[in-house]
Amino acid sequence: MNSAYIYLQLYRLFDDVTPIKADCGRLCSKACCKGEDSGMYLFPGEQNVYKLLNPSWSKIDYTDLEYNYNGKKVRVPILFCNGNCDRYQRPLACRIFPLTPYLNTDGSVDIIIDPRSKSICPLAKGLYIDEYSSNFVKNIRKCFNILTKNKEVYTFLDTYSRQLDEYRKFL
Ligand code: SF4
Ligand code: SF4
Repeated sequence: MNSAYIYLQLYRLFDDVTPIKADCGRLCSKACCKGEDSGMYLFPGEQNVYKLLNPSWSKIDYTDLEYNYNGKKVRVPILFCNGNCDRYQRPLACRIFPLTPYLNTDGSVDIIIDPRSKSICPLAKGLYIDEYSSNFVKNIRKCFNILTKNKEVYTFLDTYSRQLDEYRKFL
């Protein structure tokens, strides 16, 4: 099955489930959609969603973050937007923000507050993980329990989590 259809199914977990019960965008005027140079990483295979939908508000580029998979170096794609999107087409990283998956060195996956979000997101600054909507955290876990069955996602997550470790050192 094309990975686009898997992501489109997973996206639905977050159509009505958000970090807190209230509209958190009112707390900060949607600060996470306003960074001029920022973009959101796409998870392995997620790029196929944007090949399929080809939304006019998105642009995809490649980051310097790379992982080795099947003997090849793969650069991680990043999606840029103009601060407005079709809510039903936004990428997974936006749907789970300010939380993110994290691969521990023992191979287990945790859901953590993204250390990169602390400088922009009032929820990330103010809440412990158990203060987020339980359905939100549960659906992120469910999503990554499914995705990490794929070897490429698991490999990516290892590289990504070591990058998060570098951010965490500064906090
Ligand atoms: S920055 Fe945080 S509080 Fe503001 S809209 Fe984004 S997730 Fe919600
Ligand atoms: S894609 Fe949508 S949700 Fe994500 S940063 Fe851009 S405007 Fe915000």
